[in-house]
Amino acid sequence: MSIFESLPLLAASGGCRNAGKCQLAGACEGAGGVSPAGAIPAGREPAAVGMGTLVFATASNQETEEPESGTTGGKHSALLESPEHVLSTLESDGSRRWLRPKLSPGKWWQRRRIVAYLLMIVFVVIPHLRLAGKPLILLDIAEREFTILGRTFLPTDTLLLALLMLSVFVSIVLITAVAGRAWCGWACPQTVYMEFLFRPVDRLFDNTVGKGGKPRRDKGALLHIARFVVYALLCMFLAHTFLAYFVGTEKLAMWVRSTPAAHPVAFLVMSATLGLMLFDFMFFREQLCLIACPYGRFQSVMLDQQSTIVAYDYVRGEPRKKGKREPLPVVSADGRASVTENRSVGDCVDCNQCVVVCPTGIDIRDGLQMECINCTQCIDACDEVMDRVGLPKGLIRYGSQDSIAGKAKRLLRARTMIYPVILLALFGALLTALVIKSGFDARVIRGKGAPYTIYPDRTASNEFQLRLVNRTDEPQHYEIIPPADESIKIEVLDQGKMTLEGGGTELVPLHVTFPSNLTRGIGRSNLKMTIRDGEQRTREVQFFLLGPR
Ligand code: SF4
Ligand code: SF4
Repeated sequence: MSIFESLPLLAASGGCRNAGKCQLAGACEGAGGVSPAGAIPAGREPAAVGMGTLVFATASNQETEEPESGTTGGKHSALLESPEHVLSTLESDGSRRWLRPKLSPGKWWQRRRIVAYLLMIVFVVIPHLRLAGKPLILLDIAEREFTILGRTFLPTDTLLLALLMLSVFVSIVLITAVAGRAWCGWACPQTVYMEFLFRPVDRLFDNTVGKGGKPRRDKGALLHIARFVVYALLCMFLAHTFLAYFVGTEKLAMWVRSTPAAHPVAFLVMSATLGLMLFDFMFFREQLCLIACPYGRFQSVMLDQQSTIVAYDYVRGEPRKKGKREPLPVVSADGRASVTENRSVGDCVDCNQCVVVCPTGIDIRDGLQMECINCTQCIDACDEVMDRVGLPKGLIRYGSQDSIAGKAKRLLRARTMIYPVILLALFGALLTALVIKSGFDARVIRGKGAPYTIYPDRTASNEFQLRLVNRTDEPQHYEIIPPADESIKIEVLDQGKMTLEGGGTELVPLHVTFPSNLTRGIGRSNLKMTIRDGEQRTREVQFFLLGPR
């Protein structure tokens, strides 16, 4: 039972524990208190419960227009009904409001479709591409190595990684400040796959190809199963593509070729990824953008009045009214001419088409909303309506909040000046760090087994592994410069591993012998070791020896 269904029972039970305290209380007291006979004031119906408020409205206000949309879903409470959705995917009785947006195949949709299909190809191809013998992008979390544009970042590259992440973050902030949520509408994999892969599948099985909206036929069990199979196959392909970014194509191919028993962990990872994808595209859908993605939540701090967004021209559109308009006066060149000057009504004919095409279920006429992913479907829908009623297109269009209000465009503003300066500084620092760290990387890892060994001649030894990464494209030979303290001996147990192919990585076993009294007192002693490559580049590596106290 939802909260909406339980309220009448609460009234009938004779009272509310929060009487006099909660926001309902004023209404209850106004009605003479809660009574079994009727907690609702005569002639008024409770119209909304949302975010802790209860709004009473006259019976006539209760009439809600059922959009001709393709929204279907949960039942509405007869007694309490919200005039607006707290969440666009939630019915007023708390049930899921399933969205089946209509398709408006206008010019923006055609452009987005081309971009989406190109991106689908790009997403699949990227893990297979190589640069200087390395993957273009490989985010190897297990090995803690991130290869981006052929450059491998190791766990020791904290500064590089931090600079890279900061650069990406500031770039996102800058792009959002200038172009709004262009990423969401045009390039985010969630939108690309949802709108241009899975919704077309839905429309195929709903018999609404090219139109969208409510299903034109009842789906029998067989069609449900067939749709699930298609979803599963597509998600399987996408899950493999997704994992290729994290494990690489070679390892993925090996997983695919072997049985689950040979790679049980890999099989579990693959199954979990597939399950998550099925959950997302079959069930979670637009909710990922609405309640899970942090980017949308941050848009209010990233956008300003001049940022480009998909916007409804309320100056021209309001007051909205159904029906025909007067003949058109002259239209200005920028398409935002108001034809309302000579009329008492605006250009919006209140046809609701911008709402029924919206994949996140919102009404763009309510202003800038977190849920808007800037998908441009409402632009296409409204342009088509404007065409039909003989009014100029562009009632909904790309614009800024200021431009809609009739204010001048300002390209130079605090955000568009400060962010690029920060970005330039970050890129500069990143480039410098890349140059400094070019050549090779060296790191000492403690070996497995006993922390130290003591010998009768009062010496002790530790085992280590020297991790060498050749960051050049040429083979390189490395040597260890002996420590100044001659009592410390560093022995390379496999000299063959001191020569690395271009871009290669090796773990070289080391045996370090030292006088056992070196660690007297705290049981450890710090040591520095210098490594030199064939081109006389050197790296100093710090590590510590363990020995008797
Ligand atoms: S599609 Fe255009 S005319 Fe129709 S309701 Fe939306 S804004 Fe108004
Ligand atoms: S309001 Fe318009 S642009 Fe925003 S998500 Fe809905 S249809 Fe897309």
